[in-house]
Amino acid sequence: MQEELVHIEPKLPTGDWRDPRVELRKGAICYGAAPKNVSYLGLPNPRAWQPLDSDWKLPPDWKRIILDGMKERLGKYRSFRLFMDICVRCGACADKCHFYLGSADPKNMPVVRAELMRSIYRRYFTLSGRIFGKLAGGRDLTEDVIKEWFYYFYQCTECRRCSVFCPYGIDTAEITMMGRELLNLIGCNTNWVLEPAANCFRTGNHLGIQPHGFKDSIDFAAEEASEITGLDIKVPINRKGAEVLFVMPSADYFGTPHYYTLLGYLMLFREIGLDYTVSAYASEGGNFGLFSSHELMKRLNAKIYDEARRLGVKWILGGECGHMWRVLHQYMDTMNGPADFLDVPVSPVTGTVFANARSTKMVHICEFTADLIHHGKLRLDPRRNDHWNATYHDSCNPARAMGLLEEPRYILKNVCNHFHEMPENTIREQTFCCGSGAGLGTDENLEMRLRGGFPRANAVKYVKEKHGVNLLTCICAIDKATLPTLMEYWVPGVEVAGVHELLGNALVMTGEKERLTDLRGETFVTTAQFASSACEGGHA
Ligand code: SF4
Ligand code: SF4
Repeated sequence: MQEELVHIEPKLPTGDWRDPRVELRKGAICYGAAPKNVSYLGLPNPRAWQPLDSDWKLPPDWKRIILDGMKERLGKYRSFRLFMDICVRCGACADKCHFYLGSADPKNMPVVRAELMRSIYRRYFTLSGRIFGKLAGGRDLTEDVIKEWFYYFYQCTECRRCSVFCPYGIDTAEITMMGRELLNLIGCNTNWVLEPAANCFRTGNHLGIQPHGFKDSIDFAAEEASEITGLDIKVPINRKGAEVLFVMPSADYFGTPHYYTLLGYLMLFREIGLDYTVSAYASEGGNFGLFSSHELMKRLNAKIYDEARRLGVKWILGGECGHMWRVLHQYMDTMNGPADFLDVPVSPVTGTVFANARSTKMVHICEFTADLIHHGKLRLDPRRNDHWNATYHDSCNPARAMGLLEEPRYILKNVCNHFHEMPENTIREQTFCCGSGAGLGTDENLEMRLRGGFPRANAVKYVKEKHGVNLLTCICAIDKATLPTLMEYWVPGVEVAGVHELLGNALVMTGEKERLTDLRGETFVTTAQFASSACEGGHA
């Protein structure tokens, strides 16, 4: 299988690229959304269907719905109309998409992905297209076009790497979002996106964990953090009047390796005496609305702010999450802001005013922690991470969407002694996606995920071979869920961790008992032991 996946040969399109017929196949597509989830969210056309069915059971007037939807959005979103009009087909973005690099499918070139939509725009919304049709670069909207949209708009992780290289700043992720939103109007959506979104409204979080289950998980983590440190660590839930509402992705309290990141947060908050609360209602930072529609994104984001208002907190602190931050940074203010009922966030320990959060009133945990370290407020022993030789994967959304590049690195360099960057053209703004974001991190499309993640894995392999890297750190819940599979497949021997897990290891807490293991229960090794094991070519 691996040999087949690395055998990537550029395929030239046979015939006209505008021919919409696609080969929908297992391993490259996600399951259609279950009707119960479509109904729960109040979305149109709930029905039992699967992408491999020949009849997709579209509503009778599906074509009118799509064209009306497109017209409405062209009027509403200036960026959408602009992106439809201004591409000069220079090709600078063509080889920048990890799905193209991993699959060699020409329709995975960002420029062609966008053309799948643009050709319909030209045909129905431009004078030349209405008159000259194909000659003006247009094509008719058919059921095959809908199937092609579904296939390729769900082979884009909305990572925005291509936009970094476009001289016009065309953001293909926005076009994908628009494509998915239009598909939603006729009930063509995936279960992996809609079920977590429905669960968020039903119980508060993606997995559908009910409030008492949430409390059990949090209490369990608090107990474990207490055991590790010998200190009494408690986590307030739904506490009115706390200064800070802390919101994390739900994977932090039910998944591994996320869970170790949660232990790191709890230890940090205990050490600095943060006056905070978590919430069973806003028990999910992730926002699967981003992968579905602007409307759903807005509704999910509003939950966090409603809860902040109800609890009467002053400001919000957010954990290691990817799309929560993209939504927050790029859309929240327009959709639900400004959050005038909250205060501009101020660190209660250092007095730093987070002016960048003046409107959203929400601070990233890495900004918060980096500020504490910068002001010398934490005692850190980086030797406690000597068993790790770390590199850092810039998770697409915090890196490209909000420019959070330095803070995680600053923390890492203060909490571990062995850190190596991956090659320059694969990190920071140019970071390669994990290949499983934007609602693609499920099992049924694993082949495409492994293909899409190949460029990221390749860069990790490089630093593993050159520097003996054995840990890939990141600050996104989807990354933590999907990178372990990617590493196991392409770069065995490299584990995955959150930045605050390493912070938790290194944090010397006031009055703590002697710590003999890290947060995973692994025995600490000394620098000398690490060096000798690295010389032997192995790692603890
Ligand atoms: S780089 Fe920009 S202008 Fe050039 S083909 Fe890609 S989207 Fe079009
Ligand atoms: S946004 Fe990312 S996944 Fe989508 S076309 Fe651009 S590079 Fe590819």
